[in-house]
Amino acid sequence: MGVWLKELGEPRFRVSQIYQWLWAKGGKDFVQMTNLSLKLRQQLAQNFIIRWPKLAKVQVSQDGTRKFVLVLDDEKSIESVLIPERDHYTLCLSSQVGCVMSCRFCHTGQMGFERNLEVYEILAQVVLAREYVKQENLALPLRNIVFMGMGEPLLNWSNLEKSLHLLRNDKYFNFSRRRLTVSTVGIKDKLKKFGQSRLGMLAFSLHAPNQTLRKQLMPKAANWELKEIIAALRNYPLEKRERITIEYVLLDRVNDSRECALQLAKLLSGLRCKVNLISYNPWPGSLFARPKKERILAFEQVLWSKGITAILRKSKGDDILAACGQLRTAFAPKSAFKDASAKILVGENRQSLKNKNQITSLGCE
Ligand code: SAH
Repeated sequence: MGVWLKELGEPRFRVSQIYQWLWAKGGKDFVQMTNLSLKLRQQLAQNFIIRWPKLAKVQVSQDGTRKFVLVLDDEKSIESVLIPERDHYTLCLSSQVGCVMSCRFCHTGQMGFERNLEVYEILAQVVLAREYVKQENLALPLRNIVFMGMGEPLLNWSNLEKSLHLLRNDKYFNFSRRRLTVSTVGIKDKLKKFGQSRLGMLAFSLHAPNQTLRKQLMPKAANWELKEIIAALRNYPLEKRERITIEYVLLDRVNDSRECALQLAKLLSGLRCKVNLISYNPWPGSLFARPKKERILAFEQVLWSKGITAILRKSKGDDILAACGQLRTAFAPKSAFKDASAKILVGENRQSLKNKNQITSLGCE
């Protein structure tokens, strides 16, 4: 769109004016953009279409969590989750349709990989959630973004990077760096790029204290050896008082033993991090179980006793399959798209594991 506007002889700030209208206001029709001349609005309408993904379904959990199903232009669908915190909402975004990593415990991992999300599809999740918060008169502001929905964000790095730039931009979304978190299984090269970009905070999905068990649980992610990943994390650029979040899903009798906790503490020793313990969220047909509360607390206690900061993350939205690792979509039926009210966006953007017993506390005991 930039080139097109330049050819028309429009000044450079026109692009940012149009982006502002799209991203900050969720603009749906060029006609409404009254700070542009009528002629330019007509020319825009003749050359570009604005098509927003359709918010096809909203499910509300007992704890106030909302799960949104968005149907995309090609009828594939994704989910994003709005999570109430004490004084704000956090929005959990998807970065891909499906996921290529197929981690054994993750619901999204079982649906296979469809495609990367475009920049506008990533950002539309924020625009639609923001509109929803306003329309429903929800009391809290949307202030945090986490890329912890469907997909492996660093495998869609170029669109993620562009999206983060736009999310940081004070003319469009104005999120501060500390309020943007990207969760990843660790992708060589891209991890470094993300660190150097300083566009957001890092959460690393570890889930096992040694290479053997990690390979069992996350076969593809474990292609990058744990030793090397931890070395990369030790070199990861952090600002004063910043820490890397280490995510660790507790799977009953698989990675939640005292021995695993000791190994984990040793592995992370000296790393500037905090551990987010996530009690496993089961999904239909899943092969793992959530550990009992005592086991979780005992695990947490071992970490603290070894000087590692550990926090038990409270699962939200699990009654509507909206908690961590529970997201999964099927193709939307054609009819779901028929009444799509919002049309465009885009301009230039548009161009099992058979046997659970195979996995035990391998390497921990
Ligand atoms: N692909 C990225 C982001 C998506 S998942 C990543 O793996 O980091 C966000 C977090 O939820 C990850 O730590 C993931 O391992 C975790 N998770 C996956 N399945 C889960 C489940 N069933 N219960 C709890 N957490 C799960």
